[in-house]
Amino acid sequence: MSNNLNLTTEVNRRRTFAIISHPDAGKTTLTEKFLLYGGAIREAGSVKSRRANKHAVSDWMEIEKQRGISVTSSVLQFEYNNYCVNILDTPGHQDFSEDTYRTLMAADSAVMVIDSSKGVEAQTIKLFKVCKMRGIPIFTFINKMDRHGKEPLELLEDIEKALGIQSYAMNWPIGNSKEFKGVFNRREKQFEIFDGGNHGQAIAGTVSGDISDNKFKDILGDHLHAQVIEELELLDMAGDDYNIDSILKGELTPVFFGSALTNFGVEPFLKSFLNISTPPKPRHSNHGEINPLDENFSGFIFKIQANMNPSHRDRIAFLRICSGKFTKGISVNHVQKNKKIKLSQPQQFMAQEFKTVEVAYPGDIIGIHDPGIFSIGDTLCENQSKLIYDRIPQFSPEHFAKISAKNSMKRKQFLKGINQLAEEGSIQVFKRPFSGAEELIIGVVGVLQLEVLEYRLKNEYSVDLIIQRLPYKLIKKIENIRFEDISTPMDSMLAITENDTIVFLHQNPWSVGHLEDRNTGIVVKEIFESN
Ligand code: GDP
Repeated sequence: MSNNLNLTTEVNRRRTFAIISHPDAGKTTLTEKFLLYGGAIREAGSVKSRRANKHAVSDWMEIEKQRGISVTSSVLQFEYNNYCVNILDTPGHQDFSEDTYRTLMAADSAVMVIDSSKGVEAQTIKLFKVCKMRGIPIFTFINKMDRHGKEPLELLEDIEKALGIQSYAMNWPIGNSKEFKGVFNRREKQFEIFDGGNHGQAIAGTVSGDISDNKFKDILGDHLHAQVIEELELLDMAGDDYNIDSILKGELTPVFFGSALTNFGVEPFLKSFLNISTPPKPRHSNHGEINPLDENFSGFIFKIQANMNPSHRDRIAFLRICSGKFTKGISVNHVQKNKKIKLSQPQQFMAQEFKTVEVAYPGDIIGIHDPGIFSIGDTLCENQSKLIYDRIPQFSPEHFAKISAKNSMKRKQFLKGINQLAEEGSIQVFKRPFSGAEELIIGVVGVLQLEVLEYRLKNEYSVDLIIQRLPYKLIKKIENIRFEDISTPMDSMLAITENDTIVFLHQNPWSVGHLEDRNTGIVVKEIFESN
């Protein structure tokens, strides 16, 4: 096969999606079942051990263990029906929504898992909002249909009302809780009845056939059969219409019902999802749209994570490939740093283990060892084109603290640790004018990030921190005033960023008004253009 044809084939079979949910809705279980159906694992349950091990992978995060939340996000790849699928896991906790957003930047679509007994939950709303900002297609999997839950129509209504997105039920559940027997595929007008699956350990058997086939009356019993037909008629009249354009624009979510635990409905979801979602599309850059089929290899860093491997303290930069073919050992330009680097030990995450990757294509994510040269949003590309992909938006911090090292002798370690976390994008660092670097102001998007900061400085840099929480909730950039002329209101704090931009921390919007009242001509702006 010629190179170009090969690239086209590989790109077309790629699907890259992020999976989001409120904790416990079943994200991990569903991911595991995808791997089972993809043949990447032979028996479900093996990811249980991965779940137990998950803490080992990230055992630097004691908080994760204590609170049972997944702080880190990981990437998995598997094959199914000749598709090559990349799943990007996202942290379920809202305090890490900035991390979720970065992960979504690397994804081409999102899968939202909802617990049928809970409906849309608080974190679902927060994560959904982040998803919506990206404008990518969002697929919904309503999970735990094997348990008593809300009525399917009520769940659809919940999605529309709480999330403000139209929905289209791609399939309709037949029976519920212990009587959950299968789904009706509305697009193909087919019953899909499941059985077996050894409580979800193995692939479930499926009997499928046309709606008119009388055998389903026998299988389901007259009563359930009639009830489903009636519900379907009602749905046809009441629900939104199927519209592929709206789906691809993220304005309408296709909804699937199923049970990740028993595997019922997992395969129809996977098939339909792969069918509807698109392969990697062109990505925007300073040189316009870059086609994935462009032979110049390129990609961007969307995440930096330290200590993926607890046995040696390493740092991995996650690169989303956007165009061309990646081959191990390739030399690329680090555009922002104007530096040539060789990617000699790239890693990929297959099912459950890391392995060295020989080749990879647009849509794939590879992990690159980072000796401290990468920042979030960096572009790597093969040729000299100075290509830069769109910036990854930063979120304004909403929590602030004054921090210093308990032991002033540890100043060097303190600064090293802070710098590391700032580069990973988990904290933003400010200084008070005229104060030294011993005392810094830290801004975070989610308050848990302060705990992460404290924990990691202690464990990785042996620095005990003194953290003094500050009452501010907003940060603004100010312009059009000389530093020495500023009159600072009582309820705000003046600080400067690393590149000497003047910022103000405020407790509330009124305090921004006070600043403007006291300083004629001052211009107050958001710190990031995207906010
Ligand atoms: P995550 O926090 O979203 O990753 O959720 P998990 O996949 O860890 O699932 C949380 C709990 O729900 C676990 O005890 C699962 O066994 C259970 N669970 C997941 N899917 C289903 C399902 O389809 N039905 C039932 N009954 N339980 C499920």
